[in-house]
Order: sequence, then C-alpha cells, then structure tokens
Amino acid sequence: MDEDNLLTCEVCNNSVKDDDDFCPYCGTLFIEIFCDNHNEILADGVCIICQIAFCKKCCVRINNRFVCNQHSNYEIYEGTAKVYETVDETDVLYLKNCLEQNGLHPVLLYRHSLYGGSGFSYAVIKGTESEIIVMVPFQEVLKAEEVLKSII
Ligand SMILES: [Zn+2]
Ligand SMILES: [Zn+2]
Ligand SMILES: [Zn+2]
Repeated sequence: MDEDNLLTCEVCNNSVKDDDDFCPYCGTLFIEIFCDNHNEILADGVCIICQIAFCKKCCVRINNRFVCNQHSNYEIYEGTAKVYETVDETDVLYLKNCLEQNGLHPVLLYRHSLYGGSGFSYAVIKGTESEIIVMVPFQEVLKAEEVLKSII
C-alpha cells in the first residue's frame, strides 16, 4: 500500500499530507522557511493563491487564510477563489469548458440578489436574478487567469 498519510491542519481542520510543507487550504506553514522578499525574516505563512511563503509584512491573514499583498482581493468560497463573473450563461459554460480542457477544475457558483448580493449557492434559484461566478481551487487561480486572458 502506498497511501498518503493524512494529518489535520490545526488551523482550518482540512486534511493535509504529512509531508506537506504548508497547508494548501489556509497557507499555514509546517516548516521554517524565509520570506520570499526578505531572506533574513522567517515566513509567517504561504499565499494560498501563488503558493509563495511570505513574512508578516508581505502577507495578510483573511478569515484564517494567508494571502500575499498582491493576492488579497480574491473572493473565496470553500477552497476556491473567483476568477470570473458574468450574468451570461452561454458565456460562462464556454469558459468553464475551456478551463476544463486545460486540466483545471472550475466550479460555478450563483450569487443571488435575493440574499442582498452576498449569498452563494451551487444551483440557480428560479425567479431570481443570478450572477454566475467561475471559481477554481486556490492552486489553479493563476493558471485559470492565464487561460481566461487568452480567450476573452
Ligand atoms: Zn489549514
Ligand atoms: Zn500570492
Ligand atoms: Zn517579507
């Protein structure tokens, strides 16, 4: 048997592999490494979007997840981050298909005006105007943005 040994991240309670250097869900570091910008300062966490380690000055912690200053504005929902938003369903299905062809794992979310613009769900609610949001797992955000840039 060659199964990965799983541990639980104490910060976010997601399963991580016992040889992971950091938690891919919240960016908590399990080893001591230096900040990518300051090679004499120990890193505080790993940006979940670009997977680079940064010190307190170079990253922020939002809802217990580390993001670097450059990637602190993503909308995040259950392990995924927003890469695109539209009200056009044809458009979004095309984009989703393109992302999948590039080996990515997009998930569509619907944001309903019903909930004052802050409610997300994985399905359309009849009779409400929904914005369709394309989300991808954190590690796929930068690649997804490259793909989208090349087709939009
Ligand atoms: Zn974690
Ligand atoms: Zn980053
Ligand atoms: Zn730094």
